[in-house]
Amino acid sequence: MNDNRIVERLNRCFEDIHDQDIRIMEVCGTHTRTISKSGIRYLLPKEVLLLSGPGCPVCVTPESYVDMAIEILNLEGVVLVTFGDMMKVKGTRFCLSDKQAQGSKIIVVYSPEDALTIAAKNRDKLIVFIAVGFETTAPLIAVTVRQAKARGLNNLFFFTALKCMEPAIRFILQDGRNKINAMICPGHVASIKGAEHFRFITEEFGIPAVVCGFESQDIAAGICLLLEQFTGKRQIEFVNLYKRCVSFTGNTMAQRMMNEVFDIADGDWRGIGIITNSALVLNDKYEHLDAVKRFGIKIEQYSSPVNCLCSEILLGLKLPYQCRLFGSVCIPEHPSGPCMVSSEGACAAHFRYGGDRKNG
Ligand code: SF4
Repeated sequence: MNDNRIVERLNRCFEDIHDQDIRIMEVCGTHTRTISKSGIRYLLPKEVLLLSGPGCPVCVTPESYVDMAIEILNLEGVVLVTFGDMMKVKGTRFCLSDKQAQGSKIIVVYSPEDALTIAAKNRDKLIVFIAVGFETTAPLIAVTVRQAKARGLNNLFFFTALKCMEPAIRFILQDGRNKINAMICPGHVASIKGAEHFRFITEEFGIPAVVCGFESQDIAAGICLLLEQFTGKRQIEFVNLYKRCVSFTGNTMAQRMMNEVFDIADGDWRGIGIITNSALVLNDKYEHLDAVKRFGIKIEQYSSPVNCLCSEILLGLKLPYQCRLFGSVCIPEHPSGPCMVSSEGACAAHFRYGGDRKNG
């Protein structure tokens, strides 16, 4: 469907919306960025609010994890290997960029597999890979873990904060305060886990849900489909509009890789707290590569920084503009909270491209 037809279809949906409170949450950072960048929010009537859930891996990585990464980094002979967007995420006091500026050895990579090469070339060092992400990143990390074992790289360890999306969505929908009544499912995770993985949103919670792609047209088409259910043009249903990438059962090979390497455990989500069965941790077969066990790390839980509303934003209770620090003290160059760090964080996306002030 071309852009004009989508705008026409959106407009037809709007005509039928009267005094409804429609709160649509997207739970993928890439959706969050596209929604802000494309200006879709500005097309929507006042009854329709788009909220950003915990779909940015950096935003949900707890302060304690950053603190522990720094603690490992301070050990003799350790080199940290990380994706770039973890560099500015603050722990209770410092971020990895601060430590790099002080001379600590940190290497930024684009793929977990780069850690294999770094470990092979630096056998006299202890290489620790900062493994952060959702089920989208986890299969590649699983492959890297398997290769590290197969190649006998005894100096490479994985410090994991990998998370599963489905328990977090359940947690959010069970929190009735946010009144979320429609959902744009995470397309990337769906491509790995399959569209069916998210059918529970409609079947258990009775709300419309759609899997859609990442172009602005994809998202607009997804919003149309959701609104048509509110205006009675369609029955409440779960729909996969992203069939070009998301199959019914997903990428079974990637799922096998994850099952081979990881166990499910309770996970600590920044600003939210512990969500049962929401984390992926290395299983017994690979525990000798687990940085937590190798370095005897004890992970504490902390609360969010004072005045940062990331917790409420991730739970769909507040919008970035409602934070007093937004755009003044807290900007992407000097983020106070994690939602301002990655370009896929809700606050960073609202700051760069503008956002919804209906409740601001
Ligand atoms: Fe946190 Fe900054 Fe967002 Fe406020 S603007 S919620 S301090 S990240």
